[in-house]
Amino acid sequence: MTDTMADPAGTVGSAPDVAELVTRTSQFVRDEVLPVEDTFDGDVTAAGGDHLRRQLQEGARTRGLLAPHAPVEYGGRGLSMTERARVFEAAGYSVFGGLAINAAAPDEGNMHLLAHVATPAQREQYLAPLVRGEMRSAFAMTEPAPGAGSDPAALKTSATRVAGGWRIDGRKTFITGADGAGFFIIMARTRGEVGERGGGTMLLAPAGAPGLQVGRHVPTMDRSMVGGHCEVIFDGLVVPDEAVLGEVDQGFSYAQVRLGPARMTHVMRWLGAAVRAHEVAVEYAATRQGFGSAIADLGMGQQMIADNEIDLAATRALLDVACVALDTGSSASQETSIAKTFGGEAIGRVVDRAMQLCGGMGVSADLPVARIAREVRPFRVYDGPSEVHRFAIAKRAVKAARLRTSS
Ligand SMILES: Cc1cc2nc3c(=O)[nH]c(=O)nc-3n(C[C@H](O)[C@H](O)[C@H](O)COP(=O)(O)OP(=O)(O)OC[C@H]3O[C@@H](n4cnc5c(N)ncnc54)[C@H](O)[C@@H]3O)c2cc1C
Repeated sequence: MTDTMADPAGTVGSAPDVAELVTRTSQFVRDEVLPVEDTFDGDVTAAGGDHLRRQLQEGARTRGLLAPHAPVEYGGRGLSMTERARVFEAAGYSVFGGLAINAAAPDEGNMHLLAHVATPAQREQYLAPLVRGEMRSAFAMTEPAPGAGSDPAALKTSATRVAGGWRIDGRKTFITGADGAGFFIIMARTRGEVGERGGGTMLLAPAGAPGLQVGRHVPTMDRSMVGGHCEVIFDGLVVPDEAVLGEVDQGFSYAQVRLGPARMTHVMRWLGAAVRAHEVAVEYAATRQGFGSAIADLGMGQQMIADNEIDLAATRALLDVACVALDTGSSASQETSIAKTFGGEAIGRVVDRAMQLCGGMGVSADLPVARIAREVRPFRVYDGPSEVHRFAIAKRAVKAARLRTSS
């Protein structure tokens, strides 16, 4: 055991080649990604948007670091969830790191979904160029109120049968990466009424298809995701039968295939960012003098540092439990909800304490801490708000208790 939990490279029982990948990812991020993030205060649009993405991904490709989670047949390394945990954490040390290795949301989650559900033809058309970084993608589920949000049963966007395919009508919002995406995975209702669970279907549509319009960018506090978070309008978008992803009416089941792992990879990347905020804060507090000692040696400074170490270690441990469960083929609903809720909140606490430890510098753009805070806060809302996960965690626990007491 080292005397700090902040740099975990290679400490978890991964194969040696994964530990080596963690080290090389970490080096790449420090050499080529952090300087750009720091120059542009983590604003990906100011830093060049898609042009920057291509440039960083070319660097990752040259170093053999691109899309390590993707299937081997498409050029990835096929890393398991457990194996990718420390690699993505190393990438997440920069808020542009996931993007640089082509493991950012929503593309990374969409790759996972396509690898598990898509037909061979769909994989060739969409997964292969996505893994190579030739295009980006978007996952369109959330709708403006009163449509689908925390409660997916409110899904309003409809897909109705037409000759040889489906006609899609509806509105989506907060669709990450929509501006400039090469294709969309759309959740639409093919059965049942608004408010009923089930009856959703996922459909694929290329950007620019008639009837598919990317609207306004919703202005949000974060800045690191290429293509923003946009409104998307479907007005008579017609897609062929071959555009259905998986089976008709099974969309909500497939959403779980995507969302469980995607929640964990978000925890991995934001954990890396929290580690950076913590390291910067400890370095600041260890050198900044006040009241006759370094801030880091004052009791309340020590408490914030210790609590950060505890939150980082606990997040990593819960993440690993969920990854092991996912790797065994379990849906890991309870484990991923627990890791997402604890991790999302703990990461927020770590970054907030880091900001406090750094004083005025903590809220300035001279240190990365404020920009990291801006990035991690929305994670308590997307991938299921904390309240929705607590609601689900409690329901499962109560259901298990009732089963025990009734038998
Ligand atoms: C930065 C960002 C990126 C996003 N990217 C995407 C994307 O790419 N694709 C996509 O489809 N969506 C995306 N979303 C949308 C996101 O998934 C939704 O914001 C989220 O599901 C919550 O839905 P909502 O905003 O409609 O909140 P609402 O459903 O209106 O909920 C509001 C609040 O109510 C509370 N609440 C909800 N349910 C319960 C409950 N059971 N018990 C107690 N309290 C509860 C929670 O505090 C919640 O935050 C993104 C959102 C953000 C902020």
